[in-house]
Amino acid sequence: MERRAKIVATLGPSSNSPEIIEELIRSGVNVCRFNFSHGTHSDHKKQIGLVREISKKLDLPVGILQDLQGPKIRAGSIPKPIELVADEKVILFATDHPVSSDDGIKCIPVDFAELFDSVRAGNRILIDDGHVILHVEQIFPKHLIAAVLTGGKVSSHKGINLPGALMSIPGFTEKDRADLEFGLQQGVDFVAISFVRTKQDVMTVRQMIEDHEDRGLTPLLIAKLEKPEALENLTEILEVADGVMVARGDLGVEMSPELVPIAQKRIILEANTHGKIVITATQMLDSMISNPLPTRAESSDVANAIFDGTDAVMLSGETANGLYPVESVQIMDRIVRSAEQNFFDWGHFSPPPFTQGNDSASITRAARELAHNLKVAAIAVFSHTGRTALHMSKSRARVPVMAFTPNYVVLGRMCLMWGIIPRYISMSNTLREMVTKADEIFVESGLVNGGEQIVVLSGFPVNQIRGTNMAMLHTLGEAL
Ligand code: ATP
Ligand code: MG
Ligand code: MG
Repeated sequence: MERRAKIVATLGPSSNSPEIIEELIRSGVNVCRFNFSHGTHSDHKKQIGLVREISKKLDLPVGILQDLQGPKIRAGSIPKPIELVADEKVILFATDHPVSSDDGIKCIPVDFAELFDSVRAGNRILIDDGHVILHVEQIFPKHLIAAVLTGGKVSSHKGINLPGALMSIPGFTEKDRADLEFGLQQGVDFVAISFVRTKQDVMTVRQMIEDHEDRGLTPLLIAKLEKPEALENLTEILEVADGVMVARGDLGVEMSPELVPIAQKRIILEANTHGKIVITATQMLDSMISNPLPTRAESSDVANAIFDGTDAVMLSGETANGLYPVESVQIMDRIVRSAEQNFFDWGHFSPPPFTQGNDSASITRAARELAHNLKVAAIAVFSHTGRTALHMSKSRARVPVMAFTPNYVVLGRMCLMWGIIPRYISMSNTLREMVTKADEIFVESGLVNGGEQIVVLSGFPVNQIRGTNMAMLHTLGEAL
């Protein structure tokens, strides 16, 4: 059986050679994430080009996810990482007002001058998802002095959080706008929006994409849930987004870490109920940034996300700037497969209650029933937008599902859908032609043998782009 949950891997300095990208894809990466908090447009362009080229060469579809930075205070550019030690003093200064200290105090640039207006003496400042913690002592117009509570390394563009402080930062920055335009030019399959608070944050981006140009199928929008407000507004966000990410890094800084597992379970359950994609992210195999094997706790974490019902699990620093990018993917693949062998025993997931009364959702449930009640080896979905494929994915059928599309944009989308094996197929004029092509692909895949039965889902007549209205039992290789 193919792996059913998908693996998202962040590309960065550890994964920018064609050789590594090829190994990552061969090891099972389904979607590559590009974090626009880091790197330049020309770096991203080069890497996106490599992913596309290699995916084509290997004939393994890979989706491209653009992650927009959003309103986050970050360190400026730091030529050589700064090592902070507990109890020493440190200066944070606005990038455009350089300071230098004569008494050897280390200085960290901050790309957001408003920080110095919002912060108060006694506040805590968290750097890099809380790896480094500072205690603010003195504040000046363009710099501040703090004591190091927890030491650690600070390198370029690491995130800075001020838990509890109210900051006046617009939800969507000028940089995000420029990055989004670039992403649209590159034809990314998914856009992840950071620090979403309300459904308006998602709708604003959707509107901007629609205003940009009429591109037919636009990227799917993934709302990153990393603020407590987003959890309060979860239902309305799920109504307008195509998917959500349990962004545990910032979430665990903005609220207490002990609340993160509860938030994860609730987000996954609600996303599945709404038929939306859900990615579980951050620190999944964190120790593999510097070790060739994960901790047992990390291995359990990945497996438990699968049992919670996540569609995808994500690697960040492990593949972006770690020592073992390929090993991280291989191990994640093994943990997911092992969990999935026991998914129907331990997974807290039966298909969600039926909330969407539409043809496509209903017919995928019918296909699931057919597949489970009869001797059916697989399900074939023919999809023009990916919508039926997503409904099929969410029904969590126990048999393999292959989804065919004549559209490369849809192929990219389907890379993130649980249990969906995306395959390109040219447009057919008749049902017979379409099913014959699919039969060949099934036999080649080794998933189904001639003479076995599959369920076919399609719109009929097949040469029209229309909603799914047909579920058919078909014996592989049998003439229509
Ligand atoms: P976020 O707060 O958005 O999660 P992050 O800083 O935690 O951002 P990750 O995506 O988790 O970033 O990646 C981990 C680290 O990998 C980053 O902190 C950065 O040092 C490095 N990195 C990721 N992508 C790139 C890139 N394109 N160029 C350079 N470094 C990168
Ligand atoms: Mg982020
Ligand atoms: Mg992160």
